[in-house]
Amino acid sequence: MIVLKTKAEIEKMRAAGKVVGQTLAMLRKMVVPGVKTSALNEAAERFIRKQGAAPTFKGYHGFPAGLCISINEQVVHGFPSARRLQEGDIISIDCGATLNGYIGDSAITVCVGQCAPEVMALVETTEKALYAAIAAAKPGGRLGDISYAVEEVALASRYGIVREYCGHGVGRDLHEGPQVPNFGTPGTGPQIRSGWTIAIEPMLNLGGDAVSVLGDGWTVVTQDGSPSAHFEHSIAVTEAGADILTLP
Ligand code: MG
Ligand code: MG
Repeated sequence: MIVLKTKAEIEKMRAAGKVVGQTLAMLRKMVVPGVKTSALNEAAERFIRKQGAAPTFKGYHGFPAGLCISINEQVVHGFPSARRLQEGDIISIDCGATLNGYIGDSAITVCVGQCAPEVMALVETTEKALYAAIAAAKPGGRLGDISYAVEEVALASRYGIVREYCGHGVGRDLHEGPQVPNFGTPGTGPQIRSGWTIAIEPMLNLGGDAVSVLGDGWTVVTQDGSPSAHFEHSIAVTEAGADILTLP
């Protein structure tokens, strides 16, 4: 179900989103070779709680941590551990915060030190795909316009597109309708309306599309072992277009 939000609700989501944006800005600076991913998670949970918010992912369907941390060939839903980041890794950090009953959900992918040029290009292009999709989230357009915006950017660079996982409505619940796939046909799907609040989250692979889930039941990896990048913002659709809610 697509739950339309009032202006007041959107402002509550922006407050939650700001906590997420600030958390990610802090974590970005902590991403250096040698840091344990559990240290990132501890810092994030501490910061989120200090703002009076709660880490949304912790305990969600049994998820064990406040952050999803996915390194290199891990696509999404990896979790923090004693693993130390190494020069040349890429790390996707996905963060959710709940404040006064409303949720913000956002993710960034960061290079650890210096990455290979083709990996840096993947990261930059995935972020570009996110912003292309955000620009397509206008009232009167259709959901397929948003999906196609991601696909178009991905295909121009011949990147794999993760099809099994997608963006989603967000608000009081972490996952509301509609699903927002990262591929689609322009001019198709539900009409985009002012009051929609959705998380748009391209996941692009340097290799093929195919992914699988590791034996831990959570971590999604590329089947060919190629690196994968992931960016996400929660946005509100307004008459003026997309309004990004997960800024610091
Ligand atoms: Mg997320
Ligand atoms: Mg999400």
